[in-house]
Amino acid sequence: MAESSQYPETLGVRAGSLHTEFGENSEALFLTSSFQYKSAAQAAARFSGEEPGNVYSRFTNPTVTMFQDKLAALEGAERCVATASGMSAILACVMGLCSAGDHVVASRSIFGTSVQLFGNILQRWGLETTFVSLTDEAAWAAAVKPNTKLFFVETPSNPLTEICDIAALAALAHKSGAQLVVDNCFCTPALQQPLKLGADIVVHSATKFIDGQGRCLGGAVLGKKDTLEPVYGFLRTAGPALSAFNAWVFLKGLETLALRMEAHSRNALELAQWLEGQPGIERVYYPGLKSHPQHELAKRQQRTGGGIVSFDVKGGKEAAWAFMDAMQMISITANLGDTKSTVTHPATTTHSRVTPEARAAAGIGDGLVRIAVGLEHIEDIKADLARGLGR
Ligand SMILES: *Cc1c(COP(=O)(O)O)cnc(C)c1O
Repeated sequence: MAESSQYPETLGVRAGSLHTEFGENSEALFLTSSFQYKSAAQAAARFSGEEPGNVYSRFTNPTVTMFQDKLAALEGAERCVATASGMSAILACVMGLCSAGDHVVASRSIFGTSVQLFGNILQRWGLETTFVSLTDEAAWAAAVKPNTKLFFVETPSNPLTEICDIAALAALAHKSGAQLVVDNCFCTPALQQPLKLGADIVVHSATKFIDGQGRCLGGAVLGKKDTLEPVYGFLRTAGPALSAFNAWVFLKGLETLALRMEAHSRNALELAQWLEGQPGIERVYYPGLKSHPQHELAKRQQRTGGGIVSFDVKGGKEAAWAFMDAMQMISITANLGDTKSTVTHPATTTHSRVTPEARAAAGIGDGLVRIAVGLEHIEDIKADLARGLGR
């Protein structure tokens, strides 16, 4: 059985497949909003949950189920709930597990839109969030309140690739009666399995490396069966369900995930090492570098360093923009995890709605540039960055 394999290569290709009477070898796309019943009695039984089976694609859809099962096998999770985007995965997780009056401790080094969600929108609905430094365990302990329900982290973080000790933070969360949520977007289960390290919940933006080719939006929440029941309850009622088409695209993405993550990481490490020797660069952030403050932890916790490299260009915003504009191949776009290398200026795009003070506290300077290293040949990637540096 494929599901019992311990290897992400096999799980990505084989786990979760469902075969119909037609004997198709590639997973089918079930593009249907609803499902037929053989009788009125069966319709009633399906609706009441007495008889398992599909009812309506806001609840379940066979293609979405195959994607959920494959991703659950890869993460080592009991259950996966797929959502329309990464943001709706985070929202569903919070709406399922928290109520007004509850408290969340979140890393301040999270995706800019996640900062907005916790710090602004959820705040208006009575959920309070305290932001702390990802790597300062004492600050996490100090931020805990009697009503703390969740710890929320990204590791490695976007865009500075900071890393936290998942097992240690999970232990701290549990001691406080809270659950640890890890946004595993940067590593994917091919490189890091937070649930096996003690985290309670993993959230994903499938839009990134899981798709892997920049085509579709989607997300997922993974964890124990019981934990995810209220998350699923929110999803089927509020409706941010993953489209069957996008699930089918992600299913194909997962088949090559392990292979791609290795190739992204190989290119990223070589690029990061090369950047460290360039005169126009102040500092390079990449977990695979010996100069990374948590390099040893990264080696224990992740298979490789991943595909994201950030660096400070000398000369602030003007220099960073000039660098980006001088490149000819790499796409200027906020997306990441694509086969195409992409470049972003976080201070004026992904993190522009974060206040300048919060940005400074998180260490996101005006000269910071993030490269999501793609699968082009490394010599062509380096040549384009050399053009950016004016050489
Ligand atoms: C992109 C991203 C998200 C949000 O995902 P969407 O699919 O764009 O909604 C969340 N977390 C991280 C780390 C991301 O990079």
